[in-house]
Amino acid sequence: MTQSDCLFCKIIAGEIPSTVVHETDTTFAFRDLHPQAATHVLIVPRAHYTDAVDLAKNAPALLDDITLAAGEIAGQEGIAESGYRLVFNTGADAGQTVFHTHLHLLGGEQLGHFGRP
Ligand code: AMP
Ligand code: ZN
Repeated sequence: MTQSDCLFCKIIAGEIPSTVVHETDTTFAFRDLHPQAATHVLIVPRAHYTDAVDLAKNAPALLDDITLAAGEIAGQEGIAESGYRLVFNTGADAGQTVFHTHLHLLGGEQLGHFGRP
């Protein structure tokens, strides 16, 4: 299931270039274009769902898949021990700009507090 006007569906399809760091049958992960930390990777299900709750309601196994992929990528990037943050921005107040479920993996340095700027 893909959506023709979705940026991340196009990235998964290879129609828009990305720096791929990890792939499985169900997941795809690439470096964020505007990194917010030394390591900033986006992990997405290949299938199109709008956000984390949509994914959990309709394809909960994929939520496991992207979380497990995040753990593997953290190992690959050498930050499994130092720690990392996993974030799902959901909706306008959180600043979600792409409505294809994506898990941000942030790390590689001491991260600041989150919440209010
Ligand atoms: P969000 O704000 O949670 O919806 O996250 C969307 C993320 O996608 C942002 O961190 C953007 O920097 C990132 N992004 C936008 N376009 C691209 C792209 N072409 N390749 C990689 N990351 C992108
Ligand atoms: Zn999509």
